[in-house]
Formats: sequence, C-alpha cells, structure tokens
Amino acid sequence: MNKIALLVSALLTLSASAVAQDKPFGIAIHGGAGTISKANLTDEQIKAYQDKLKEAVNKGHSVLAKGGDSLEAVKVAINVLEDSPLFNAGKGAVYTFDGGHELDASVMDGKTMNAGAVAGVRHIKNPIDLAIDVMDKSAHVMLSGDGAEEFALTQGYQLVPQSYFDTEQRYNQLLKAKQKLTEKELATKDYQASLMALDLEYKFGTVGAVALDKQGNLAAGTSTGGMTAKRFGRIGDSPVIGAGTYAENNVCAVSATGHGEYFIRYHVAGDICARVKYQDKSIIQAADEVINQRLITAGGTGGVIAIDGRGNIATPFNTEGMYRATQRNDEPANVMIWKDI
Ligand code: ASP
Repeated sequence: MNKIALLVSALLTLSASAVAQDKPFGIAIHGGAGTISKANLTDEQIKAYQDKLKEAVNKGHSVLAKGGDSLEAVKVAINVLEDSPLFNAGKGAVYTFDGGHELDASVMDGKTMNAGAVAGVRHIKNPIDLAIDVMDKSAHVMLSGDGAEEFALTQGYQLVPQSYFDTEQRYNQLLKAKQKLTEKELATKDYQASLMALDLEYKFGTVGAVALDKQGNLAAGTSTGGMTAKRFGRIGDSPVIGAGTYAENNVCAVSATGHGEYFIRYHVAGDICARVKYQDKSIIQAADEVINQRLITAGGTGGVIAIDGRGNIATPFNTEGMYRATQRNDEPANVMIWKDI
C-alpha cells in the first residue's frame, strides 16, 4: 500500500471510531416483577437487591462502553443475576410441584435475527449461555429437557446437580404455594383454575437484559426457573421468542417477566416491537399500551424492559414492583424496585 492509501485508511479508521464514540448505547435489566411488598422487605434485603442489580447493569454497561457487542452485554449481566440466589434464575430458581427445578432461557440477536432457547433444563448452571450456544452452534432455535442437556455435553458443559439450585427461601415458597393450591383445588375441584388464581401470590423473579451497542445492534435475553409449583413439564414465555424475548435492529429489544401464559398468548415482546415498527410508536408508548392496557384487560400481570435503536428505554409493569436497572451512555446506573424508588 502506498503512503496516501495508508493515510486514507488510517483517517477512515479514526473517523469510524469517532463516530462509534458518539453513538448512543445502553442497557436495561430486570430481576422479575410481582407482589414485591415494601413491608415484606428489610432495609438489608432491599440493599442486597439494589447492589446485585447495580453490579449486573454495570457489568453489561462496561462491555458496551468499551465498544463490545450487545449480545455479550446481555450475557454478562444475566450471568450475574443467574449466579445470585436472590433471583428466580440459575441459583435460586423456584421449585416445581415435585420439588425439582426446571429452567428456561432464550436470547435474540437483533442484527442477524438469530435466536436460541432452552426449555425445561435441569442441570445447566447458566441457561442463558446454553441458549446462546443453541443459537450459534446448533441448527435449531429451541432445545428442551434431556436433549438440550445432551447438546450441552457436546459443547463441553459440566452438568450441575439439582441441589445446586436449592435455596431455603424458595423451598418455603413452594410449601406455601402447595398448601394454597391444595386448599383452592379442594374448594374448586379444578387444579388449573386454582393455579391461575394463585397468580399474584407467586413471587416472580425471572431475570432479563436488553442492550443497544455502539454499532447500533440490539439484543435481548431472558432466564428463569419459571413459576413456583409448576407441573407437567410446564414451559412459560421466557424461552418463547416473541413472547418473553425479542430483538430486531432499528426497532426494539424486549425481555419480559410475569405470568407466562398471558405473555405467550398476547405475544407480548413481539407486539411491543410491532407497534414500534408498523405504527411508528415510541418504545415508551408501545410498551405501556401492551403492559398497562392490553395485558391488564386480559388479566395478565408482569412487566417488560425495552430499548429502541436510539437508546430510549421503557420499563413498564402492572404489578406492585419490578426489580430493574438501566444505564445509558456515560450516565450512572439507575436502580429501581417500585414505581418511585
Ligand atoms: N415469565 C415467567 C414464567 O411464566 C415467570 C416470571 O417472569 O417470573 O415462567
């Protein structure tokens, strides 16, 4: 290459990185929505949640600040929450009716429209990692149960025992939920109806992240233990692309938490992005319409985190609280649990 060509190429690289520096970027995370009552949490517990949310959002944000990609930011933020017993994902996942743990997770890359998901896995420490590997290294979008774990073994994963996910607090929740279920089932003679009626008494706690990187790429991911006392191999919205997770460049990225049966039927993540894409609505308006109008009318409880291609973030929820945090550009993290704090 002659000197002029070298100079031109150096100038192009410089101006490309200058442009990337000015590009908006950001991340939002959630640690579940539900009946999070202020009266039931001690100051220490509130601080523990806030600290963990801050750690997760900071970790994802620093990937983006260094010019890293949105998918990596989503993964590292979710890993922090999966490894914490505070949230219903990875360690600390809720119990099934039979006293085990079955985990669901999914991821979507808005640049390629690729997606990966796992459902009902029982021995995977970080299900979001496996969802990413399903996306990148398999010919499929969703793998479930034993098959997903067989695939994990081919990718060099170490399986963990079910006891890894155990926590006393979640076990007590199971006992409480089973007692209420039995009472309601005896009264109504209808297991399904009694499970639906239990909805608001379930502590949710699913985790998720959405991010926009400096290259303009959007990504979303969600990881969960599902709902307490779930039975019969029940799978929620979290691993369902378009329901619990969705990302499309220049449109939006969404991760949901709430009563999964409603989020599947109302195609929540996809519906929000469709309103942005086809009706030209802002992310704030689109997310609010779906969570606070459409879902409320249907009786579905929960919330979402959403980010658009310009870095605007929406975090609506129709429950008492939703653990969440956001961090954009060079701003500090904003950590919230209820509407006001
Ligand atoms: N959406 C999850 C599910 O239904 C639960 C949650 O968000 O906490 O499995």
